[in-house]
This record gives sequence, structure tokens and C-alpha cells, in this order.
Amino acid sequence: MILHADLDAFYAAVEQRRRPGLAGRPVAVGATGPRGVVMSASYEARASGVESGQPVVRARRVCPELVVVAPDMDEYAVVSANVMAVLSSFSRKVEPASLDEAYLDLAGVPFRPRVLAELLRERVWQEQRLALSVGVGPNKLIAKLASVAAKPDGLLVVTPAEVPGFLLPLPATRLPGVGPSTTAALTRFGLTTVADLAATPPDTLRRIVGAAAGEQLARFARGEDLRPVVPQRAERSLGGERTFPADVSAEHELIRTTLLRLAESAAARLRAAGVAGRTVTVKVRFADLRTVTRSRTLPEPVDLAHDLYATAVQVFDGMGLARARIRLIGLRVEGLGQGARPQQMALGEREHGWSELERTVDRVRAKFGTASVGPASLLEPGREVAREPGREVGKEPGGDAGKGTS
Ligand SMILES: [Mg+2]
Repeated sequence: MILHADLDAFYAAVEQRRRPGLAGRPVAVGATGPRGVVMSASYEARASGVESGQPVVRARRVCPELVVVAPDMDEYAVVSANVMAVLSSFSRKVEPASLDEAYLDLAGVPFRPRVLAELLRERVWQEQRLALSVGVGPNKLIAKLASVAAKPDGLLVVTPAEVPGFLLPLPATRLPGVGPSTTAALTRFGLTTVADLAATPPDTLRRIVGAAAGEQLARFARGEDLRPVVPQRAERSLGGERTFPADVSAEHELIRTTLLRLAESAAARLRAAGVAGRTVTVKVRFADLRTVTRSRTLPEPVDLAHDLYATAVQVFDGMGLARARIRLIGLRVEGLGQGARPQQMALGEREHGWSELERTVDRVRAKFGTASVGPASLLEPGREVAREPGREVGKEPGGDAGKGTS
């Protein structure tokens, strides 16, 4: 059996989670400019007719009380990595299909599918406060259709015997690969449900939509799908970059705080994926669009923001860019391998609490959201900062402040 796991209204749900004031309100994630498009809509927004892919301008018209939030892909990537880590703890074969969905091959998993699905949903809710819908079926096609049918926040198991009763009444548009032009062609021949397709000779389908697509449609209409679950090959590098709204001088403090933010995000994703990297690459794009990159390879793999940041600053300082005007800065970690040993030493320090501290931060964030804790130097002036002896932990208003996470 194959399991398809899909987070409900993922980007919108992450925004609602980290801004408690948005809970229960219609929220859309999308660029807020005049040409923005809705990337994700909360169920409250969907109830008013807001849809993914809709221009934000139109979404605001159909739902005047809509709250539109600009996307934060770094945050979604971190949350996604945390959820994928949960899924990977239940099956060795996990294939992420996008940031918010994945297929699991259940062969060799020591739970009945329904029990496993409930465990997964419970774990993701407990650790991330995100609703995960799950479909289980004899192949990828049925598992995915089942998770769609289970939404929101549901579970549907379709046994092989139940496939015809589940599949045949569905609209043909639910099948993968049936887009607007295929739908138009099928409709001309009066074919609107999967049952219609199943009752049509494959030769006829091939004539209507073309040989390859017709072949696939006929197979899907019979509930057949031989696509295997292909576990994701380990990423070989990971990182991010920031373009500044205005060019920044190389000495400006913003360079360092940006490197720290990028190091933080990369380190969280490394640890969530259970990997560490040995090579830190810094990329700089100048005001005239020239781009340079410099790397440094460490003796041991690291997965801590402290180490990534220290290395990135050394690399950056070694570039000798004193007078440069900088447009973009990036940080990438390469040479990824198995996770760092928990007792590893951070650069140049014997006894230190960085590893323990950052892993504690991971656990707090898994529970309360990414904005709940971070280095004090990333806080803007005026923000509330909670200090404890020997460490500095900040709370961001508008994150999950108020839950007592520090
Ligand atoms: Mg989803």
C-alpha cells in the first residue's frame, strides 16, 4: 500500500500558526503587489470563493475581509523539512512531491495502514500544529485521490476491493494530467466521469487525446498506476540568498545580520534533514551585477548556525570587499553527509553549549514555530528580548509571543 500525506492549506496554515490573530480568519498567501497571485488560501478564505491561482486583486473582491500575507519561502522550507523528518521516521521510502506533500511506501512498515496514518497525523499535529490529510491506496494514484477526498484534516483508506466504488464516480478532471484542453476534448465526446473513461475503449481515448495521454487515461480509469515511490536522493547542497532592497556597503552591519539569518535557516534545515555539511560557500553580487563566490571547507561536517556563520564571516572578510556596494548575498552549505556527531566541537571552542542550545531551539521551534526563538542580534531595536544567564533568546512580537516560549 502507498500513503499520500498532504498538509492542508500549507502556506496559509503556517502564517495562521505564527500569527495567532489570524486563526479562524480568511488568509491568503501571495505577493501583495498589483500582479500578485494567491499561492495558498485558508479554508476560511476558500469558503468565500478565494482559490489558489486567483489574482490577489480578484480574491480581495470576492472576500473583502481577506488578509493577504507575503510568502516566506524560507520559513515554509524549514517547516517542510521538519514534517518530512516526521514522515521519514515511519518509512524508509519517502518521496516528497512538493513542500507540503509526500508519498510513503508502506512495504515493511510494522503498522496497519490506518493505524500508521493516524500516528502520522497525530505526530504532525503535536509537533507542528498543522493539519495533515492522508490517503492510503494500492498505488500512488488512489492514495493521492484519497487524500484529496479526505481534506480537510481527514483520513481515507481505499482498499483494493474498494477502488472501483471510490474511483469511478469521480470527475475525470481529478485524474493527473487532465488539464483544461484534455477536459475540453473529453467533454466534446460526453466523457465527464472516470466511469465514462473506463467504459470507453482505449483506442477511442487514444484518438481523442493522443496516443500517450490516452494510454495513461485508460490505465488510470482502471485504477492502475505502476509509478513507484522513489525516495528523494539526498540533497548535495542547501542554502539561501537575499537581495537587498537598496545596495549595501560591505562594511554595513546588515551584511553580517543577513549572513547570520541565512546561517540560521540553513542550519535548521540541515538538522531537520539529519545531515551536516563541510563546505561553506558565500556568494556576493555587486551593484553592477558581477557575481563572485568563495568557499571554505572545514575539517569536520557541521550543522550549527554558529559554525556556519563564523565560517561565512571568515570567507566574506577574506574577499577583501571593503569599498564594494553589494546587491545580494548568499550562503550555501555543500558536501552534505550524515548528521554531525552531537558531541562535535564548534570551531575554536572546547567546552561550549552551542550544539545543545541550537538543538533546544529546534525543539522549541518544532513546538511553537520558527519565529519563537532566535539570536538576539536578529531582533530589531525595540523588540522585546528575554535574557537568561549565559544565553540570549529573543521573542518576536507577531510570532508566537505570548505562549511563553523563551
Ligand atoms: Mg497541501
